[in-house]
Formats: sequence, C-alpha cells, structure tokens
Amino acid sequence: MRSEELQTNLASVEKRVAEACKRAGRDRSEVTLIAVSKTKPVEDLQVIYDAGVRQFGENKVQELTGKIPEMPSDIDWHLIGHLQRNKVKYIVDKVKLIHSVDSYRLAEEINIQAKKRGVVADILIEVNAANEATKFGVKLEEAEQLCEEISHLDGVHIMGLMTIAPNVVVSEENRAIFHKIKDLSVDIDNKKFDNVDMKVLSMGMTNDFEVAIEEGATHVRVGTAIFGERNYNIHS
Ligand SMILES: *Cc1c(COP(=O)(O)O)cnc(C)c1O
Repeated sequence: MRSEELQTNLASVEKRVAEACKRAGRDRSEVTLIAVSKTKPVEDLQVIYDAGVRQFGENKVQELTGKIPEMPSDIDWHLIGHLQRNKVKYIVDKVKLIHSVDSYRLAEEINIQAKKRGVVADILIEVNAANEATKFGVKLEEAEQLCEEISHLDGVHIMGLMTIAPNVVVSEENRAIFHKIKDLSVDIDNKKFDNVDMKVLSMGMTNDFEVAIEEGATHVRVGTAIFGERNYNIHS
C-alpha cells in the first residue's frame, strides 16, 4: 500500500517536472530531481530508489550519516540544511553537494576537512533572496563578495547558488525571486572567479518547483510531494 502510494507520488512529480521543462523550452535532462527524505524511514527511500531515483536530500547531519550505510552506495546525497562547522568532518567526503554554505568561516572549515581527505568539496552558496529573518543564507547583495572570498580556497569548488523561497500560497509569487537568483548567478559567473562555476541553481520545493524550473532551476528539492507530509513529533 505504502509503496504504491510513493510510486504514484513520484510519477506525478516526474510528470510535473517534465511538463514544466516543456513549457520553459528546456530539456528534461537539464533538471535534477532531488528526493528530500528527511524524517522518512529508509524503507520509504528504498521504494523511491527502486523507482530509479539516485539523488536524495537530507537536512540534518546525524540523520544523513545514519541513512548512508543503510542505503545502496550509488546514491548521490545532498546536504540541504544548515551546517554547523563542527559537523563538517562527518560529511565532507560523503556527500555529492553541500547546498547550504552561507559564511566564509564555514567554507574555511569545509576546505580544511576536504584537504585532510584529499577531496575537493562541491558547494552552493545559500542566498536568502527575500531577506527573511527566519532563514539562513547571505543577502542577495553579499553573495558575490562571499564567492570571491571563497574562491581562494582550493579545497572547495562553488558550483552555484541555492535558495529557499518564501512559503507562499500561490507559487507564482516566488517567480520574481527565482528570476533574481538566476540573474545573480549569471552576474557572478561573468566575474570568472577561480574555483567558481555557476552551473547549479538549486531552487524550488513542493509548493513552487514548477515555477522554479521555468525560471532556470537545475536542481529541485522535493519532499512532501513525493514522501507525503512529515510528522516532526515522531522523529524529532
Ligand atoms: C525540507 C526541505 C525541502 C523540501 O520541502 P518540501 O516542501 O517538503 O518539498 C527542500 N529544501 C530544503 C532546504 C528543505 O529543508
């Protein structure tokens, strides 16, 4: 029962992603669907894995490191939540991409831990596009300077930008924000900083991923529409 429900949810999200790509004149291969599995049991992740998904997103280091050994090894894990410097060492060589870098101090710690393990860590700069007090991320106007500072750290590679748009009722309300982030990424790319490549735009969640795709998202982070509502009382 549960696995049928998850398969149906995934198929419906897939269809909506494909349709948004079509409307935007983009190829489906330009958009990566990240299944955001936070608070969900590995049995649920396995159903989505069996349906073909290899990109999973988690927002807590402890939950992520607990799930990694329980799941197949060909998964690309994405750390999408706020990262504390003292936890970098647990994940730096285990994740494909860290989406949530919003300070030089954090990037510096990622650089140190990446070099210890002989890897280069791919990261995104999280931008608080709507300047919401409750959200992490740098202000829009601070992003370029942060990229320039981090560009001197050769154990870290900036792959693009990430944003969490406001929780709005009508997704259309976030279109201007996604557009701004896209423009910002083009501006930063034009600076040709070392170790900075604006290839990835991680934006769009259950409520607004179609608009995000229309505005240039390369990675959408979808939880609820695939796994159903989260129950934080049980899991945290
Ligand atoms: C939880 C979460 C998501 C997924 O949110 P849904 O609305 O359930 O799709 C995406 N991005 C981040 C950073 C998250 O923490």
